[in-house]
Amino acid sequence: MATTAPAIDKDALRRKYAEERDKRLRADGSAQYVRLEREFSDLATDPYTPRVERDPVTDHVTFAFIGGGFAGLVVGARLKEAGITDYRIVEKGGDFGGTWYWNRYPGAQCDTASMIYLPLLEETGHMPSEKYAHAPEIRDHCSRIGRQYGLYGNALFHTQVTDLEWDEARKVWIVRTDRGDAFTAKYVGMGTGPLHVAKLPGLPGIELFEGKSFHTSRWDYGYTGGTPEGDPMTGLADKRVAIIGTGATAVQVVPNVARDAQELFVFQRTPSSVDERNNRPLERDWFDSVTGPGWQKAWQENFVANLGVGFPAEDLVDDGWTDLGKRIRAQVIDMPPEQRTPEGIMAAFEDADNEKMSEIRARAEAIVGGEAGEKLKAWYRQLCKRPCFHDEYLQAFTRPNTHLVDTDGKGVERITAKGVVANGKEYEVDCIVYASGFEVGTDFTERAGYDVTGRGGQKLSDYWAGGMKSFHGLHVHGFPNMFFVQQNQAAAFIANYPHNLVDHADTVACVVKHAEDKGHATVEPSAEAESKWIEFLLTGPGARLGSTECTPGYYNNEGQGYGEQERFAMGHPAGAMGFFSHIDQWRRSGTFEGLEFG
Ligand code: NDP
Repeated sequence: MATTAPAIDKDALRRKYAEERDKRLRADGSAQYVRLEREFSDLATDPYTPRVERDPVTDHVTFAFIGGGFAGLVVGARLKEAGITDYRIVEKGGDFGGTWYWNRYPGAQCDTASMIYLPLLEETGHMPSEKYAHAPEIRDHCSRIGRQYGLYGNALFHTQVTDLEWDEARKVWIVRTDRGDAFTAKYVGMGTGPLHVAKLPGLPGIELFEGKSFHTSRWDYGYTGGTPEGDPMTGLADKRVAIIGTGATAVQVVPNVARDAQELFVFQRTPSSVDERNNRPLERDWFDSVTGPGWQKAWQENFVANLGVGFPAEDLVDDGWTDLGKRIRAQVIDMPPEQRTPEGIMAAFEDADNEKMSEIRARAEAIVGGEAGEKLKAWYRQLCKRPCFHDEYLQAFTRPNTHLVDTDGKGVERITAKGVVANGKEYEVDCIVYASGFEVGTDFTERAGYDVTGRGGQKLSDYWAGGMKSFHGLHVHGFPNMFFVQQNQAAAFIANYPHNLVDHADTVACVVKHAEDKGHATVEPSAEAESKWIEFLLTGPGARLGSTECTPGYYNNEGQGYGEQERFAMGHPAGAMGFFSHIDQWRRSGTFEGLEFG
């Protein structure tokens, strides 16, 4: 809640932010990282589900979807509701879940309230157990959706698509995989997620380490003991553990390892901003009193409204995400009407942000204190990096066995046979946990692991060489019957990512149902509709994340920005709610303006 804070010297703060950012800039940018699956494939294997051999598949389905995370599940659910019975998900993991399949590290939990984050709560009748559900419950929910909508029978797990090719004569997609499959599908959808290619810091000596090491998305419970449900990791009781990285993942991992390891060293390059979490169990009576037909959509839309500068009646979620929106609105309300210009609102945003970040820094000082408390203070604007929320992370640094190794923006120097070198000192450890994140700055096709060949042999990688081009973020001209289920050029809503996916699923089902009912063979946006949509999007303020004035990270391509392509990673000029209202009307109109059916 807004408090009367001491006056903040804006210019001094801007200078401090710039100094801290400059310390962290590196000439090698994103090239400082290496891919787990490419350079360290032995560390990339699936530790959770054994791979089962099977014969290649060569049949035909109406709809094939690449990715078995939330996107593939919600599109499957909506298509089943629309009467499409042969829907196939192709997934590289051993089960549904996507990011929630891989990320089973101790303490993993959603950072956005379960009531709006977990898709299809109304349809499945599931009541989340906590305001912020833990990963096992989210994974169970993915299985629940899979079971309820009959998505398991046709799914291909532990299977990676290698090639997608449009066959113009037969009007089908040919889907080829690393299992030798070559089946056809009338429609394809892609929901490979923004953060699915794990990366390691490209540190000298990384291959020399003689102890145990793994990435957080491949947690080795065989070594650590314990379970994703939180049972103590007894295997760590006599171990010295290093965690490299202090992003959103590490913030959730650290308290658990601090609890169970003999000794823990946390290697920090940039501190995260860690605000309070205030998690709590949800009660049945309360849940029943706030839910009814249409409740989840209403909650999701209320959350969006509370992040913007409009004036929603109430704040249903009421958490750290909506707090910033509230603070900005409070500043705007206090402004004389003539100052409510775009510049005035940006200034109010900066004031609200400064106030918020001062409180977050004060929290580190109050909880941890001393030198570590100082080093845990984040010196950048809140949305420069992923905001974090946790009630045990900072507290972990008050334990005698837990040591913060701050590197003043330089990072770990190298790995040796025995441990980790930082600030010129070697820390001998038994185990290194890389909480080093996921690849973001590369082209979509490179991250997805396959290219798409559309009409006339056109490659998606070529078509998008100068930046993404789409109609509504979902359809691409020259790539008929293809749906791209992600956030850009649509709502671009990052604080509740699944909201984007459920909304696109509604559109996919609506368009496919129309095409099937009318007996159309193809559906594709016209070149004109696609260009007009992009022109319209470019009238807006552009990408809201990723300013190169920010401290480096994946939001801004390690401080270097994404160049010309970045202009196209934008959302609706009127914000997420602008897109959701637009598309709602577009779907309701039933004319599908901009799409051509053949
Ligand atoms: P991040 O990319 O956010 O963090 C990687 C960390 O590794 C950073 O702290 C980075 O430092 C550090 N690092 C990299 N190289 C070095 C080095 N040489 N020495 C020391 N430190 C180094 O990855 P995460 O996995 O934490 O999070 C990725 C994203 O996944 C989040 O931003 C969020 O979107 C999502 N996520 C969501 C969660 C949820 O909703 N519940 C939970 C966890 C993650 P630096 O910051 O200086 O680059």
